[in-house]
Amino acid sequence: MSNLNRFKKVIAQTSDAPLGLEIEYAEGVYLHTTDGKKFIDFISGIAVSSLGHRHPKVVEAIKNQIDKHLHVMVYGEFIQKPQLEFAELLTSQLPDHLEQVYFVNSGTEANEGALKLAKKYTGRSKLVAFKNSYHGDTHGSLSVTGRDIYRDPYLPLLPDVHFLDFNSFDGLDAIDDRTAAVILEPIQGEGGIIPSDINWLTEVRNRCNETGALLIYDEIQSGFGRTGHLFAFQHYNITPDILCVAKAMAGGMPMGAFISAKQIFESFMFNPPLNHVTTFGGHPVSAAAALATLQELLSGNYLERASIIEQKVKAQLIGAGIVEVRGIGAMLGLQLESKELTKAVVTDCFNQGILLGWTLHSNTLVRLAPPLIISDDELDCVLENLQESIKKHR
Ligand code: PMP
Repeated sequence: MSNLNRFKKVIAQTSDAPLGLEIEYAEGVYLHTTDGKKFIDFISGIAVSSLGHRHPKVVEAIKNQIDKHLHVMVYGEFIQKPQLEFAELLTSQLPDHLEQVYFVNSGTEANEGALKLAKKYTGRSKLVAFKNSYHGDTHGSLSVTGRDIYRDPYLPLLPDVHFLDFNSFDGLDAIDDRTAAVILEPIQGEGGIIPSDINWLTEVRNRCNETGALLIYDEIQSGFGRTGHLFAFQHYNITPDILCVAKAMAGGMPMGAFISAKQIFESFMFNPPLNHVTTFGGHPVSAAAALATLQELLSGNYLERASIIEQKVKAQLIGAGIVEVRGIGAMLGLQLESKELTKAVVTDCFNQGILLGWTLHSNTLVRLAPPLIISDDELDCVLENLQESIKKHR
């Protein structure tokens, strides 16, 4: 039996058309398959490999940690140095009130924890979220994900969730004194790479201040340098009460976190104690990788690179067939004029060894999220191919 058939037989598929490329190794911006093909990863494993695949400093940190210890208990028994050093470095980069980190394993788990934390702290249950958002696929995160086709098969979800239009002032009075939390992506990712409007975000923040609702930012996709700041909210200078992160955090290792104030986190300590736990959250190998990733992000010129990538992409991708290039830094979306053109371009680029993708809620948007280590030559080459492909298929 071919490996593709073995793969389809025993690995549960969620795509109805799995590509099934057999990966041999990945390094830097390239993915190499067992049949000798090479792909440039222009979506960074969906905003994960921002430092490229297997960054040497990340690999070294992983190897060092493996020789020390793997999992040990996480309910207060042990101080784990990689967690401690990473949390200190991370919080040193954030506004003062984002002072404590709770580690989890994934993006959706970060959002789950943040929603629970807001409910416990405020003693309220109403949640406000936005249409076309994506917050993950577990029940709580799905409950605040703003797309019915993904929600409907799983109803009933959490009650008392109110969906508003993203970037619209209409309906913001739904944020009231019964609201535990407002959850939003400062730049909607799966919704089609849509940055928030600064005046709107200011108003959302004000409504939260007035009503005592906590503001949760889901920066799972936009975080860790992708937009040219460590976090997208730093472009706006409007801070959340809880910040959720994952994806690029640990340089390709699984990890997530939610970050908030000590006073807010204390509600997890009492009535009853240990009312939120997770066995593997902040795994020491992931934490070591995260520390190395953050140190590298802060010491290199990666954040500047993200802005240069934005400028180059926006300057070069213009012309017939292209409706718009939007986004900030290296979190970009190329809006094309039809879904047929989008499909043809993504397929054509794939055949030329360029890995692109869609976003979940749009079929006319090509996701552009290259690793921040991409060279000018590699970037120019991809952009030329994209332009040619759009011309050819229009
Ligand atoms: N929030 C956002 C904004 C995301 O982009 C994603 C993943 N695409 C998630 C949450 C869920 O993250 P995970 O797949 O790690 O659960």
